[in-house]
Amino acid sequence: MSRQPLVGGPVLVINSGSSSLKYQLVVPVDGEVLASGLIERIGEVSGRATHTSSGRSHTIESAVVDHGAALRVLHDQFAEHGPDLDQAGVVAVGHRVVHGGPDFSTPVIIDDAVESEIDALSPLAPLHNPAAVAGIRAARARFGVPHVAVFDTAFFTGLPSEAKTYAIPAELAVRHKIRRYGFHGTSHAYVAGRAAEVLERPAVGLNLVIFHLGNGASVSAVTDGRAIETSMGLTPLQGLVMGTRSGDIDPSIYPFLRDAAAMSIADTDTMLNHRSGVKGLSGVNDFRLLEDRMTEDPAARLAFDVYIHRLRHYLGAYAFLLGRLDAVVFTAGVGENSPMVRAAALAELTEFGIRLDPDRNAPRSKDPRIISTDDSGVTVLVVPTNEELSIARQAQQLVG
Ligand code: AMP
Repeated sequence: MSRQPLVGGPVLVINSGSSSLKYQLVVPVDGEVLASGLIERIGEVSGRATHTSSGRSHTIESAVVDHGAALRVLHDQFAEHGPDLDQAGVVAVGHRVVHGGPDFSTPVIIDDAVESEIDALSPLAPLHNPAAVAGIRAARARFGVPHVAVFDTAFFTGLPSEAKTYAIPAELAVRHKIRRYGFHGTSHAYVAGRAAEVLERPAVGLNLVIFHLGNGASVSAVTDGRAIETSMGLTPLQGLVMGTRSGDIDPSIYPFLRDAAAMSIADTDTMLNHRSGVKGLSGVNDFRLLEDRMTEDPAARLAFDVYIHRLRHYLGAYAFLLGRLDAVVFTAGVGENSPMVRAAALAELTEFGIRLDPDRNAPRSKDPRIISTDDSGVTVLVVPTNEELSIARQAQQLVG
């Protein structure tokens, strides 16, 4: 994110999920991707690994028992299809870590103590942090370069107290580290920096509302390059309606469904995370399908309308919190690719100074761009996110 000059060799960026491992070998200075890959179905009977380099993809199918085995597969894929990792001059391995708890506000070089601390945060992210630790352990054993953890929560550790505090008994919150953490922070921070560059304005004095709309979705309010609000909370379940997650909901749904439908806490949690959102309402979570179905299918129409209603709800709230709004920014799969979502989210807001230009909103592009009219009081932008590049740059800066 920083605009300091960046030099040096590539960074291997690793994103370990519970049953998958994504990687990218990326040159921080210019963002060139030398190779990328995805290892899926780790721990299952049959696994699959796809490696892409020099414009060609190679897929192998074989069991991958754990993250250690996944790192062996990664190493073999590089050895067979290039580039040769031993010759590539890799300066660091950057690990995406979902939860950094209240204290990890910046990237850190991973030593045994840091690895243990990330592991100790697992109760806050039971699906994500154990997977990250497994990936970190395996990668540290294999690659003798500095390893850097970049936390998805880091950008939000400085939220003002009134924004990050839940109104529950204070002692309970302290004891169990219960607060609003926020997620997608690497993306929000990267996009805030890129938006300032596109607007040719310093981050200081710039007030942004950033919509990261992917399968997971969150919105942040940013001023002076710092986040002052974000929609996700203790977990990534809170906030916007998402592909399969409900977003905001009355927590009394847990006892209600226990009594009304004999659903356990685990049942309701799974339902809210995996069978809700636009998928729960319409049967599909891919916005391309949802938009295709909307004219004929009232359920798809309602899912879209509920999704948009929540976006507008947060936009209004965050504009008020900021006091003045300079720009609205859209990013991630839906935000970058759906003119329909952007148009609906900002429809009929000219009274508030927001005027989308339909001709600028419609075309597809991979470039950051302004999609509001020249006379719009609030600038509207599409800024493609690039979490891997951001992680690579942060890792490279830390190792110097
Ligand atoms: P992400 O999590 O950022 O990879 O985003 C995934 C989401 O982006 C999925 O819901 C996709 O359907 C959505 N998406 C990707 N391409 C398009 C598109 N052309 N139009 C609408 N949604 C899209």
